[in-house]
Amino acid sequence: MAYKRRFTPRRKFCRFCENKELPLDYKHPEILKDFITDRGKIIARRITGTCAKHQRVLTREIKKSRQMALLYYTATHSSEVKKRTI
Ligand SMILES: [Zn+2]
Repeated sequence: MAYKRRFTPRRKFCRFCENKELPLDYKHPEILKDFITDRGKIIARRITGTCAKHQRVLTREIKKSRQMALLYYTATHSSEVKKRTI
C-alpha cells in the first residue's frame, strides 16, 4: 500500500443536472458504471459531484441494475461451469 490512488475531479458538477439527456436508470448500466467501483460499490457523492437529488435516484437505479447484473453473473458463471464439465 504505497500510494493511494487519488481521484482528480476536473469539475465538481452533477452530470445529470448538466446533461438533461443523460438517462438515469438501470437500463443504462454503462452510465451507472461511472458511479460505482469495480466491486460494485457506489462512489460517494463528494467524489462524483452528483447532487443529492440525483444521487438518491442513482442509488436506487444502481441497486436495481445490481440485481439484474447478479442474474447475468449467475448465468455466465453456470454456463462456464457447464463448459468445464463437458
Ligand atoms: Zn443533479
